[in-house]
Amino acid sequence: MPNPLLTVVDHPLVRHKLSLMRDAETSTAKFRGLMREVSLLLAYEATRDLPTEEVEITTPLERARFPVLAGKKLCLVSILRAGNGILDGMLELLPSARVGHIGLYRDPRTLSAIEYYLKLPDDLPERDVILVDPMLATGNSAVAAISRLKEMRARSIRFVCLVAAPEGVANIAAIFPDVPIVAAAVDRELNDHGYILPGLGDAGDRLFGTK
Ligand code: URA
Repeated sequence: MPNPLLTVVDHPLVRHKLSLMRDAETSTAKFRGLMREVSLLLAYEATRDLPTEEVEITTPLERARFPVLAGKKLCLVSILRAGNGILDGMLELLPSARVGHIGLYRDPRTLSAIEYYLKLPDDLPERDVILVDPMLATGNSAVAAISRLKEMRARSIRFVCLVAAPEGVANIAAIFPDVPIVAAAVDRELNDHGYILPGLGDAGDRLFGTK
C-alpha cells in the first residue's frame, strides 16, 4: 500500500541527476555539484506548503497585493556527515534558515546509530525542521535524529533524503507516522551491511572523496 507520508520527487531533472550520481565513475567534484542541484529541487518540494501572506507591492505600473512567505521559522538539520551535501544546496534556496547538526555513526556490527555530536538552535519549539541525510537505509540514524528533535520539542519535522530503502521508510513510518518523508527515489533493498541496492555507494565517501 502506498505510504501517504512519502513523496517521491520523480521529476525528470531529479531522476537524471540522481542517475549520474549513482555512476561509480562520477568524480567527487561532479558528485558534489549534482548533490547540490538535486537538493535544490528537493527543497522546492519539501517547502511546498510554506504559508504565504499578501503584501502591497508597487510594480513599475501599479500598486497591488502579492504573496510573500509568511515568515515561517525554519531550521535545517544535517545528519553528519553526508547530510552536509544536502544542506549546502538547501541553504542556497533558504538562506535565512537556522542550521543544526547531529553527528551519528552506525555501529558496523549492529547497524544501530550512536550520537557523537549535537548542536541545535535553542528555539526549536518555534521552528519547523527539515532533517536531511542523503541515504535512508535502515532508518536507524533518522529515527535517532527524529527522537532527539522531538525531545527538543521541534514544532514540526520532515525528513528529506536522496535515496531511500523500503526498510528505512517503514522504520520511520512505524515509529513516527507524523513525519513526512521526501525522497528522490526508493530503491530495491538493503544488503547485509546496510547499504542500499542499487543505491550510489557511501554518500559521505563519495561527497568528500574519502575512499
Ligand atoms: N549510507 C550510505 O552512504 N549509503 C548506503 O547505501 C547506506 C547508508
